[in-house]
Amino acid sequence: MTKNAADTSNQGSNDESIAVPHIARRGLLYIVSSPSGAGKTTLARRVLAADSNIEMSVSVTTRAPRPGEKDGVDYHFVDHAAFEGMKDRGELLEWARVFDNYYGTPRAPVEAAIRDGRDVLFDIDWQGAQQLSEKMPNDVVRVFVLPPSGDVLENRLKSRAQDPADVVAKRMAAAASEISHWPEYDYVLVNSHIEQSTAAALAILLAERLKRGRQLGLSDFVRKLQSAL
Ligand code: 5GP
Repeated sequence: MTKNAADTSNQGSNDESIAVPHIARRGLLYIVSSPSGAGKTTLARRVLAADSNIEMSVSVTTRAPRPGEKDGVDYHFVDHAAFEGMKDRGELLEWARVFDNYYGTPRAPVEAAIRDGRDVLFDIDWQGAQQLSEKMPNDVVRVFVLPPSGDVLENRLKSRAQDPADVVAKRMAAAASEISHWPEYDYVLVNSHIEQSTAAALAILLAERLKRGRQLGLSDFVRKLQSAL
């Protein structure tokens, strides 16, 4: 794994990660929040597909799987007792009640990833974002995704057709309250065009990776560079 300090990653390979020189760095926690229907899940999938050094945090939830959702991929689906057990044993980095269900982030995979210099993408709500910001203030990058209009949000929620009508109505009502948390985020994207939003999300990722404080191997690199001058 140890590469020459001046080696630039990804050149001549099929790896489509954003090219960042291989200087050891601490991984970051890339949090994406939005009201349901703003396009956050699609955006997250596109970021994951475009960059191999960021992985999804798979949450545990007490909610029932929707059609097509896979256990261990979309969520770890657990019952209430199992969720409580994880919470009590300190195995969740954060947790929250959203609508009528509980959601939480397993701690171990996140800690291992950032220690190894891999980034983790979180699709979590404002409560989770707040808790991670308190626990790991230097590691979080918070992005809030807004829909371009109320009509677009409503249409997206209806066209999903995965949730019953009363759930859709509840989510519309909850959208206003979720949106009120936008000032707690570092970046805000208005998701009018998914291609542009994906490009913006990847640009944020690149800029945050390059932050001096995250590049743990920088002193070493510069020392070697200076001794070669
Ligand atoms: P859904 O049921 O539509 O998958 O998710 C409902 C809401 O719960 C979304 O806003 C999603 O971001 C949030 N959520 C999913 N997993 C977690 C989690 O582990 N922690 C927190 N705080 N929120 C989560």
